Amino acid sequence: MLELHNLSVSYGAIDAVQSVSLTAKRGVITALIGANGAGKSSLLKSISGLVAPEQGQVMLDGNDLAKIGPHERARLGIIAHALEGRRIFHQHTVEENLITAWHFRKPKGNFKAAQEQVYSNFPILHERRRAKAGTLSGGQQQMLILSMATLHKPTLVLLDEPSLGLAPIVITQIYDFIRRYAAEDERVVLISEQMATLALKVADYGHVLRQGKLVQSGTAEQLKGNGLTNAYLG
Ligand code: ATP
Repeated sequence: MLELHNLSVSYGAIDAVQSVSLTAKRGVITALIGANGAGKSSLLKSISGLVAPEQGQVMLDGNDLAKIGPHERARLGIIAHALEGRRIFHQHTVEENLITAWHFRKPKGNFKAAQEQVYSNFPILHERRRAKAGTLSGGQQQMLILSMATLHKPTLVLLDEPSLGLAPIVITQIYDFIRRYAAEDERVVLISEQMATLALKVADYGHVLRQGKLVQSGTAEQLKGNGLTNAYLG
């Protein structure tokens, strides 16, 4: 389980995240829901270590992650953070991107097997394996990003707006994969999502952020019952 205790993130005078405490369980999808600027990305970055929290603790299965540096967190394969804005090597092929992702972390296991798994999850990536990543559609790029992030099967996966700009059919495919990934080995998956209605459809639990503060938490059903909609987020 992931536990955040009183986590705060500031950029100079801007308090992006203010003393947020929440949990994300293994085996399910937990969503951070909030409007543009609510602090979702900053919260994810403080978990992966891309920004240093001003205060607070990040615990994974009872271990304080502050004791492990951000690079080490990624390299050990504990955490993967797929950032908003499609970070892939556009001039390299799909296959080359997967190889790069594999070697970025301390490789353990077998690359071929991991690659086969990717192609079985997303057959279109197999079809396009020799295409430059820059020529893929937005949905295919997101599939590649998710595949790269999960290649080493990290316990904790952080996904920043995985559905951003994608067609509904692709969103369904992507969330089917994310759901299976979480359930497969009881992993922790934390996503950020601006659209409350979508988040409550795909996630099991939700935490609602407003101007850096946690304002509601609950199961998707509870949050729906509380009248959480896109309009609520403003
Ligand atoms: P978005 O969906 O736009 O990414 P968000 O909910 O993820 O929104 P954050 O990106 O975490 O929100 O931003 C929270 C606040 O922190 C905003 O006021 C934003 O302008 C500010 N902020 C974010 N990153 C920085 C930065 N590097 N320097 C200064 N201010 C920042």
